[in-house]
Amino acid sequence: MYNAKAYSAASATSSLSPMKINRRDLDEHDVQIEILFCGICHSDIHQVRNEWSSIMPTVYPIVPGHEIVGKVARVGSAVTKYKPGDIVAVGCMVDSDGTCPQCKAGLEQFCQNMILTFNSPDKHLGGVTYGGYSDSIVVSDRFVLRVPSYLNLAGVAPLLCAGITTYSPMIRWGDIKGKKVGILGLGGLGHMGVKFAHVLGAHVVVFTTSASKKEDALRLGADEVVISRNSDEMQKHNSSFDFILDTISADHDINAYLNLLHHDGNLTLVGAPTKPLPVSAFSLIMGRRSISGSNIGGIAETQEMLDFCGTHNITADVEVIPIQKVNEAYERMLKSDVKYRFSIDMASLKSE
Ligand code: NAP
Ligand code: ZN
Repeated sequence: MYNAKAYSAASATSSLSPMKINRRDLDEHDVQIEILFCGICHSDIHQVRNEWSSIMPTVYPIVPGHEIVGKVARVGSAVTKYKPGDIVAVGCMVDSDGTCPQCKAGLEQFCQNMILTFNSPDKHLGGVTYGGYSDSIVVSDRFVLRVPSYLNLAGVAPLLCAGITTYSPMIRWGDIKGKKVGILGLGGLGHMGVKFAHVLGAHVVVFTTSASKKEDALRLGADEVVISRNSDEMQKHNSSFDFILDTISADHDINAYLNLLHHDGNLTLVGAPTKPLPVSAFSLIMGRRSISGSNIGGIAETQEMLDFCGTHNITADVEVIPIQKVNEAYERMLKSDVKYRFSIDMASLKSE
């Protein structure tokens, strides 16, 4: 066991502040990573504030962070894929049983024994897992990913959650080239969704509540931008979309978007608002529309996404911050004020 520096919250109403945590000694398949950057996902905020208490209650203290990029510091004796100095990444999961049908299908995110990077039972040290707002982490090599090291690393970190969560459902939907695709919400997930949909050749329409994001949306790859609070603008798109990806983090009227789907169109929810979203039967049956959900992606698919980003030179647009600004960053995200992901420069932890 060794000490690592981290930032944690002591309760649902506490700010994040410095804390020393324990990390485990390396097993033979473990990789010790010096964390360079960690993105701030809205899921971090939901969980720090215990907003998903009915599904996954938060255990305090919580060290959030599941968009991790770092440098390999040490490897266990049986690790062959990585060596000290390699640039690697860790996303939302750090373990699964590896034997169930889901794991065998490369869908570790649906394994009943999957362990999340933070706030999951830690079978090594007891308590719960601690995430990436830290200078160091130890992870089994099965959950460590290779990073195209020529990419901007601060912008790579968000790919590990915002990237895979938008890439996976889009690829699963099928060939979106030439299709009309809507992206709801231009935040961390949404802006990655726009980048992927654009590169994959879709006609991309961004729905935003923030008129000030219009120019950025077009620059990021949108073909059209709709201010979602303007019902006339919304009406113009009635029954016209093949696929809509909903990344909105707060309560919203999902029926207003379901009505924009063409017949047989699909809306996939990746945003995880705290309260249930009422769905009108008529929004679905008038057009044989469907609604579904998607949770991050498997490990092989996450590697595929990182390689895809390497080929197409895709990274997140980030505001790099020192960890001392993390509480301010949370408040700004709650006001939809981030362009378009905060990425914490972990070198800032050295001064703590
Ligand atoms: P984010 O960066 O804060 O972006 C959320 C965006 O939602 C905002 O930028 C805003 O976009 C829009 N929005 C916020 N409040 C709204 C409201 N009241 N009405 C309409 N739109 C609103 O968050 P994120 O990190 O992208 O995460 C988004 C959601 O996905 C969170 O709930 C998160 O927990 C969830 N998530 C799910 C998965 C998964 O595997 N399914 C993975 C990661 C995250 P505009 O300013 O453009 O309107
Ligand atoms: Zn996330």
